[in-house]
This record gives sequence, C-alpha cells and structure tokens, in this order.
Amino acid sequence: MIKTQANCSDDNESDLIHFELAKKMILDNISAIQDQQQIPIEKAKARCLAEAIISPINVPAHTNSAVDGYALHSRDLPTENEECTLTVQATVLAGQFLSTECLPKHCIRIMTGAPMPNGLDTVIMQEHCQREANTIQIDARHKAGQNVRLAGEDISQGATVLAAGKKLTPPDIGLLASLGMPEIKVKRKLRIAISSTGDEIYSLAQTPPAGGLYDSNRYSLLAALDRADIEIINLGIIRDQESDLLTSFNNAADYADIIISTGGVSVGEADFTKAALQSSGQINFWKVAIKPGRPVAFGKVKQSTFFGLPGNPVAVLLTFYQFVLPAIEKMLGITDQPIAPIIKARSLETLRKKPGRTEFPRGIVSQAKNGEWQVKTTGKQGSGILSSMSTANAFIILEHDRSTVEKGEWVDVQVFSGLF
Ligand code: AMP
Ligand code: MG
Repeated sequence: MIKTQANCSDDNESDLIHFELAKKMILDNISAIQDQQQIPIEKAKARCLAEAIISPINVPAHTNSAVDGYALHSRDLPTENEECTLTVQATVLAGQFLSTECLPKHCIRIMTGAPMPNGLDTVIMQEHCQREANTIQIDARHKAGQNVRLAGEDISQGATVLAAGKKLTPPDIGLLASLGMPEIKVKRKLRIAISSTGDEIYSLAQTPPAGGLYDSNRYSLLAALDRADIEIINLGIIRDQESDLLTSFNNAADYADIIISTGGVSVGEADFTKAALQSSGQINFWKVAIKPGRPVAFGKVKQSTFFGLPGNPVAVLLTFYQFVLPAIEKMLGITDQPIAPIIKARSLETLRKKPGRTEFPRGIVSQAKNGEWQVKTTGKQGSGILSSMSTANAFIILEHDRSTVEKGEWVDVQVFSGLF
C-alpha cells in the first residue's frame, strides 16, 4: 500500500489549528498604531477618531422654541375647561434675542429655534390658538414646559461626545460641526501592500497564454481595501521565484504596516512564499482547520505584519474577512463596533459536515413570511468558484464541532453588508 501524507481531504489532519485559535494568535500579535493626523471634518468620514471629543459648549446653547407659535409663562395658562386671551407683546425670530420682560397676561410671538425670552417656559403651537388682531385665545389643553428645547439637552458642556476609537459616521461629523470644531485628530491611514504570486497569473493588460489566467485576487483585495482609512501599495504580480518574493516583501516592509500576498503558501512545487520568508524567522505557516482557506501564513517582515493568504479566489476573500479585517480594525484602533452582524437563520437545506473544522459555505439569506431569517447555499462550494461569493450575501458559519446540519436547523450567518 502506498504511504500518503496528511491533506485537506482528511477528516482529522493532526497539525491543523482551530479557527478561533488562529484568529486569537493573530490579534494577540497586533497592536494599534499610535500616529495621528489633524484633518478637516469634511474629510473625516470613516476615519478612526484618535482622541475623545469633549464638548466645549451646550447644544443647544440657549433654551429655545421647538415650534412656531407663542411663548408665555405657564402661570398664565387657563385652568381646566377655561379659555383665556393673551396680548401679543413682541416677536422674536430665530437668531434674535429678546431681553425685555414679558408682562403678565401677555405672550411673545416666537419662531422655531428662537431663544426663549427671559422668564418664559412654555410655547403654544400657532395652530393651537386663535389669533385676532393683537391677541391670541387659547384653551386648557396645554402643559407647562411644552414645546421648549432646553439648553444642553442634546449635549451638555464638558460631556464626552465621541469616544476615542470611534469610526466616524455622517451624524458624528454633524455633531462635531455643531460643537464648532472644524478639525479633529484621527489615526493616520494604515499602509497596506498587496501582491499576487504565481507564474500562471497575468495582469488585465495582458492576454494569458494557455495555462495562464487573469489575476483576480489583487482586484478583490483592492476593492475590499478601498477605504478612507487605508492607503494601498500595489506590488503587482510576483513570479514564483524565492528571490523575487523576498525582494518585493523586504522593500514593501520599509513603508507598509501590513503586507498581504496571495498564493504560494500551500505545498506545491512552486509554493515559494514559505521558503522566501522562513529565513526571517518570524513567519508561522499554519494549516487552519477551516474550509475554504486552509493554508495561511502569518508573521512579520521587518516591522510589517505579513499575511500570506491562499491562492484560491474564494479562500482569499474568506481569510481576508475572517483574519485580516479584524487585524486591520485592531491596528487602526477602531473599538466601537463589531465588524459585521452575525444573525441566526434557518437552513433551507441539509449541510453535510463532519466535526473538526470550521466551514464557511456561501449563503443567500432572506426573510421568510413569518419574519424569520432563512438561508440556502449558493450551490457548488469549490474554493475557486468566485461566483459563489458574488451570488452570496452572507457566510454561513458551521462551527468546528458541529456535524451535519439538518434542513430546518438554525445556523449562524455573517451578513456581507457589514463586511463589504
Ligand atoms: P497556489 O496557492 O499558489 O497554488 O494557488 C491556488 C490556486 O489559486 C491556483 O489554482 C491558482 O492558479 C489560483 N490563483 C492563485 N493566485 C491567483 C490570482 N491572483 N487570481 C486568480 N487565481 C489565483
Ligand atoms: Mg501559486
């Protein structure tokens, strides 16, 4: 009988490491960059806030009217079943400030946003009064303090408005503007170098000969990394030559925080990434117990963090989103939100599986008539079938110890909308 070696079709390959352990080892090895830069808030969307924002003012700055109407003192409100007539003493528009006192049994015509005149605490909506000449008539439906926005009710002076590590959203930018802050400090952009490896891989400017194919991985990664907080260094396609790989990675390491290469990390004759980097002594080559994406390299080239992702296009994206993206978020110091929501969905089909590895079939999640989430797979799940990722809208997560999922069972799904 011939002697075979452990491989990805084995049920219990001995040197595989658990998905969660691989992720933990990566994150444990990564620390946040400290460099900051000051930028105008118009450029700050999706950047990571470097320091907490403490409000220098009250927002709103003055107690003001929430509606167009009449400001009065609540002691002048009519009692139950009564009506009363008040004289309109003056008018105050948004942007004006009325310093004269309002007389008893009088009111002030006031517009939305105008500061409340001294001593007044209540506003009657204009639709709720009857105006005649210089007077209004009101009934007893009103409550003291109504239709008034209190100074500091949105943000009080000295309050922490945004925590350091928040990834800034459009409302955050508006909030910063409302505090009168034209510039803020954010973490500098993360510099990420990407490359494809393989003698069979051709750029889109070339026509691949027989046996060759277009480089898709670099384009998937370019798109996945196209973010406001990332600067991409495109290393192109590197031939299957140990020296070429080493030169390219060493050069990139002088500038990049992270280097990502795809391909060349399995056990084929032309898989040189391992050989090229092992000499540096800081590279771990793992067989992670996941499908797809079993071979992954992780370590350092000089001061840069290195990820050697598998070559198969689906495995590239899977390992990128499961391993590299959490590392990027940690390095940027983003602390405020989970990367993507994981929800429970009912499986619409039987999913064959043996315990011993985490599997990520590509799924299509939809909502059933009863409101429950449900999921089916995209069909063929080979790690080279990139269309399975394109058709899918979620990863189905089949945990390490799980065995076959019967139709109707609940499964975890990670929806792409949070990742992409
Ligand atoms: P490797 O790990 O280098 O043996 O690559 C595994 C598989 O992925 C092979 O079928 C490669 O042709 C394919 N592959 C590697 N790199 C790319 C790429 N940049 N674009 C598309 N397919 C790739
Ligand atoms: Mg290759």
